[in-house]
Amino acid sequence: MNTSPARTALRESLDVERLRRDFPILHQTVYDGKPLAYLDNAATSQKPKAVIEALTEYYTRYNANVHRALHYLGEQATARYEEARGKVAAFIGAPGVANIVFTRGTTESINLVAYAWGRTHVGQGDVILATGMEHHSNLVPWQILAKEKGAELKLVPVLEDGTLDQAAFASLLSSRVKLVAVTQMSNVLGTVNPVQAMAEAAHGVGAKILVDAAQSVPHMPVNVQELNADFLAFSSHKMCGPTGVGVLYAREEIFNAMPPFMGGGEMISKVHDDHATWADLPYKFEAGTPNIADVIAFGAAVDYLSAIGMDPIHAYEQALTAYTVERLEEIPHVRIFGRAPERGGAVSFEVEGIHPHDLSQYVDQQGVAIRAGHLCAQPLMRRLGVPAVSRASVYFYNVEREIEQLAEAIRKAQHFFGHG
Ligand code: PMP
Repeated sequence: MNTSPARTALRESLDVERLRRDFPILHQTVYDGKPLAYLDNAATSQKPKAVIEALTEYYTRYNANVHRALHYLGEQATARYEEARGKVAAFIGAPGVANIVFTRGTTESINLVAYAWGRTHVGQGDVILATGMEHHSNLVPWQILAKEKGAELKLVPVLEDGTLDQAAFASLLSSRVKLVAVTQMSNVLGTVNPVQAMAEAAHGVGAKILVDAAQSVPHMPVNVQELNADFLAFSSHKMCGPTGVGVLYAREEIFNAMPPFMGGGEMISKVHDDHATWADLPYKFEAGTPNIADVIAFGAAVDYLSAIGMDPIHAYEQALTAYTVERLEEIPHVRIFGRAPERGGAVSFEVEGIHPHDLSQYVDQQGVAIRAGHLCAQPLMRRLGVPAVSRASVYFYNVEREIEQLAEAIRKAQHFFGHG
């Protein structure tokens, strides 16, 4: 019987077995009767019944376009759509709904900033500072912008333990830096970056900071005002909500100083033959019919997470992550990437002698869903000196037995492939 501190902490936190009943998808066997262990939550999370029902309810009871309709269904849809915006604003501690723009996801949110803000605020000789652990979606848009504008893109290096080189960050900051783009939690290393301190430093040289919160908002309490973020982006689908919805938070004066991203219906105030004026925030950045059903169901996801509480979710995941690391470390020839003291539940590793794709396929046959590949972080893979990694990533509905199932599957894989 294992009585590690991680296990004790788990016992004392969430009633996970009760929460698991809210997720129909978790209760199935795959292949020849293997219980499913879904450990690919950094890619996307599963959805509770409340979210699935919110979608069904929308389409069966009040499907209508929002904002323009002067009829009952349209008013219902608009009210619920705008309610979701209010829930999101409260969830991340935004001052109000004007700070919350709905997009298709983190990727679109970051591209919105790169196109609308970047094109007007970044010029020849300016510097955009990203980091060596960014997801491609917080890197490629800046590469495109830098190329278009003759600006320079520099990356804060990643240290051996998986943290950012803060001394290098300090020395890279200068009045030429217009934007610092940093992930709050690495989807590969799990590292939680000190974005509050980095925001202060960025502001000190007159730069703005964009926080990629795709992996943080779903897993820990995040308050945009405490962080002092200028921009913050995240996706509904990683936090129990539907795919196809994301959020871009920005400070109001920054949104106001930005031209629109896309033109069309909804985002205008007056349209003349040859020009137009823009709608108030946040509508200026929401051209066309939005993803109404999924935004409303995202509101249900925010309610669901809020009812559990982000503090208990975070505490439970911290313990489960520690447990995962412990179990993996017990296995010979397993190496974990990233040793940051502050970390989240994405645990990347390699098993000596087995390619990550072969490993993930093998453990999948044992019912365990993990991810393998470059994890949309090719520059980081190069830094780690590997073409790919395997990654297990937990959410609050995961339990110890699923971690044990993973560990057992890895040992079996070592036997099968003749390593270890
Ligand atoms: N940033 C990070 C850190 C991520 O993990 C992801 C998703 N893997 C993204 C950005 C992109 O999110 P999306 O695909 O939902 O746009």
